[in-house]
Formats: sequence, structure tokens, C-alpha cells
Amino acid sequence: MITDKEATSPRNTRQREAIARVLSETTSHPTAAWIYDKLKAEFPDLSLGTVYRNLAFLSERGLIRVLRSGSGTDRFDGNASGHYHVVCESCGKVEDIAMESDAALDERAEALSGYRVSAHRLDFFGVCPACRDRHTGS
Ligand code: ZN
Ligand code: MN
Repeated sequence: MITDKEATSPRNTRQREAIARVLSETTSHPTAAWIYDKLKAEFPDLSLGTVYRNLAFLSERGLIRVLRSGSGTDRFDGNASGHYHVVCESCGKVEDIAMESDAALDERAEALSGYRVSAHRLDFFGVCPACRDRHTGS
């Protein structure tokens, strides 16, 4: 948790804005370690823990999305709007898929569960074109 005092300190604000900027400039759905690597030259006193805390702060406010992975490392998405992903089971790459989010799914889930459903996630799994080419050795 980040306290209000920490959240508003100029140093933390600068670091958090830089983290949000790095995320907004990539479509690669990076890990916290990747973001940390990108920023450690600019912020020599930055720690991986600080990156994690700021990512949690941003996602709690709906500014970014956490792509939780059951067993692997969580990834982060600068695009907080509802959209779907396709995951390569060979190289682990996560990409956006140009497919409209289906609001009817929320309604069906709501009717079946009795929950007030606010959102859903949908991930497709497969092998990306680059990995397919490598495996067929073309
Ligand atoms: Zn791949
Ligand atoms: Mn995405």
C-alpha cells in the first residue's frame, strides 16, 4: 500500500508518472522487471519494489490493468479499457487482439450467477506467427 503522504511526494509522483509513461508507450504488456530496467538509468534510486507498489497504485485507480498470470509473472497494460488478449504458449508474448469486447457476456454471466458483473476478461492461447515459422524451419 502507498500512503497518501507517499503518493503525493514530488519524487514518488515523478516516478509514478514515468512508470505510467513507459507503460503507455509500449504495446508489449511488460513485466514490472522490464519497466524497472527501462527506468533505472533515469531514476538511480528506484527499486523493483517501488515499481510494484506504483503499479498497484495505478491499477487500484483503474489507470492501468494487471494481467494476472496464475503461475508466471504478472504483466501490465497501459490500456485500461476492456479488450482481449492473445498469448503465445511458446514465447510467452501477450498481444492485443482486434476483437470487440462482448457486453452480452456480462449480462449472461450476471443472469447465471446473480452477481452484479462489471467486466470480464478473455485470453486466447496459441502459437504466434514468429514461433510457428521457427518451428517449421522455413
Ligand atoms: Zn511466440
Ligand atoms: Mn492489452
